[in-house]
Amino acid sequence: MAAYDPDNIFAKILRGEIPSTRVYEDDDTLAFMDIMPRSDGHLLVIPKTPCRNLLDATPEQLAVVMSTTQKLAKAVVKAFNADGVTVQQFNEAAGGQEVFHLHFHVLPRFEGVSLRAPGQMGDFDLIAQHAEKIKASLA
Ligand code: 5GP
Repeated sequence: MAAYDPDNIFAKILRGEIPSTRVYEDDDTLAFMDIMPRSDGHLLVIPKTPCRNLLDATPEQLAVVMSTTQKLAKAVVKAFNADGVTVQQFNEAAGGQEVFHLHFHVLPRFEGVSLRAPGQMGDFDLIAQHAEKIKASLA
């Protein structure tokens, strides 16, 4: 497996070098909105320390990121009155991973509504509105 690249997009987001719409942060983890949302409220949860994915993460990194993923999964269900929530995580290019800093996708789901196709840029105003709803449900 390749080494961790400290210049991956999420590392730059963590360092504040590129903008992101943050919804939650603690000492160990960060949650921010996906710019190509496959459902309304689609967000990503990452550890603040470096690892590519599930294959090189330590138990401690997994523990903190899963704890925040559960917190955000509950928050999006509350924020959007969702019927369910999908959590996705991909490992290496062959496993569907595109950004090589461990992350969990959190996707609010509604009965009968499919996920949108990947790779479609979202509306930034709408993403910002969704972020505010999520932050309010965490408060
Ligand atoms: P994966 O690596 O699990 O396939 O997905 C990476 C995710 O990161 C995609 O859902 C994509 O939309 C999202 N993404 C890619 N570049 C950026 C970015 O610059 N900012 C944010 N917020 N999300 C990004």
